[in-house]
Amino acid sequence: MCDTGKESRGNNKQPGGKAQRAERNKRMEKMQMKTPLVEMDGDEMTRILWKMIKEELLLPYIDLKTEYYDLGLAHRNETDDKVTMDSALAARKYGVAVKCATITPNAARMEEYHLKEMWKSPNGTIRAALDGTVFRTPIVVKGIEPCVRNWEKPITLARHAYGDVYKNTEIVVDRPGKAELVFTGEDGSETRETIHTFTGPGILQGIHNTDQSIRSFAKACFTYALDTKQELWFATKDTISKKYDHTFKDVFQEIYDAEYKEAFEEAGISYFYTLIDDAVARVMKAKGGFIWACKNYDGDVMSDMVSSAFGSLAMMTSVLVSPDGIFEYEAAHGTVQRHYYKHLAGEETSTNSVATIFAWTGALKKRGELDGIPALVSFADRLELATIRTIESGRMTKDLALITSLKDVQVKNSEEFIKEIRKTLETL
Ligand code: NAP
Ligand code: MG
Repeated sequence: MCDTGKESRGNNKQPGGKAQRAERNKRMEKMQMKTPLVEMDGDEMTRILWKMIKEELLLPYIDLKTEYYDLGLAHRNETDDKVTMDSALAARKYGVAVKCATITPNAARMEEYHLKEMWKSPNGTIRAALDGTVFRTPIVVKGIEPCVRNWEKPITLARHAYGDVYKNTEIVVDRPGKAELVFTGEDGSETRETIHTFTGPGILQGIHNTDQSIRSFAKACFTYALDTKQELWFATKDTISKKYDHTFKDVFQEIYDAEYKEAFEEAGISYFYTLIDDAVARVMKAKGGFIWACKNYDGDVMSDMVSSAFGSLAMMTSVLVSPDGIFEYEAAHGTVQRHYYKHLAGEETSTNSVATIFAWTGALKKRGELDGIPALVSFADRLELATIRTIESGRMTKDLALITSLKDVQVKNSEEFIKEIRKTLETL
């Protein structure tokens, strides 16, 4: 389904000379797109913001072509969640998707939405279908300073999302005995290692990963580094884990040398491997502006540290990148349920739409790049700039007003904030 909007920007009483007006009129022509974006609509407050963003900030300027999938929970339930898989296949087909936050059902949602089943997390389904890695980047603005003073530029965190402790097998040892690691080949052959001989109670854990998953992770990281022209850091504990972690190190190096080294050199960026403890120490002293690839557990822990140090989850974008270069953009936060219930009760909300706006601009830029439409790329850049300038001028939502170092702040409600961004956009 294609979605187009009506021109709503006409205004003959604009100030400025003839040349300026001509320039404005030229800009007022709606930008054309070639290939549709895969649009994945979502739930609750973010679904409300989604509509406002499209109406105020996109449709007046772009002849927006999207293939629309309604991933709202009611529709997922109606379609037995087929719509989620269909949207992932569409992302495969077109290459670029933009996703609104969605509810991951739990027991309470089963009742609230009268669900036939406790459907799986759409993000999990899409990630599995695209075999992707998630990259999270803070949106940096003046007035919302990171806790770490020297972080001048964003740090993008890439987390491997398969295996290790998240797919572990554990045993509580309650008596003396020998623990062994045994691998039985399909042909019946066995490889055996003694883990420990217990003289009393203790604990045991088995973890795994696959070369295929590590390769996909590595490729997604190299692809994204090239795409965003940023240095790539990767770290493990290979000095201690001489087979497990060392395999991660070797796979990354092998893929880098064989497939990416030249392109990195051409782009003037580098791949940097170090030990995880060294990486943590360096990150704290760095200026930012790089991608930090982390194993699953490191990524879990470090992404929370990096995002909270940068200020707010509502200022964090997220993009899923598949090893074959499919991009799905979204906000890092959820559906902001508490605000939605206030909205339903007729109360005013002040929900931050920045991460959702940046999901759209990320997707539009990527579409513009792939289809050779520089105007679309520059529009997306201008919309990002307008969003940042609006906040830096002191107009912001409540969540930011609580943490900003700016004086003279005007707190805007959800809708007003988007309208303020439009006002700024019109001046750029
Ligand atoms: P959440 O939607 O991220 O919101 C948690 C709290 O963080 C909010 O109540 C709000 O704090 C603050 N917040 C988050 N985003 C904000 C924004 N844009 N503007 C202002 N404040 C913001 O997490 P949740 O309430 O735990 O989850 C709600 C639903 O989202 C769940 O059903 C979950 O399954 C889903 N979820 C989806 C995704 C996704 O699709 N990617 C990710 C996470 C969660 P205050 O209430 O203090 O103002
Ligand atoms: Mg975590």
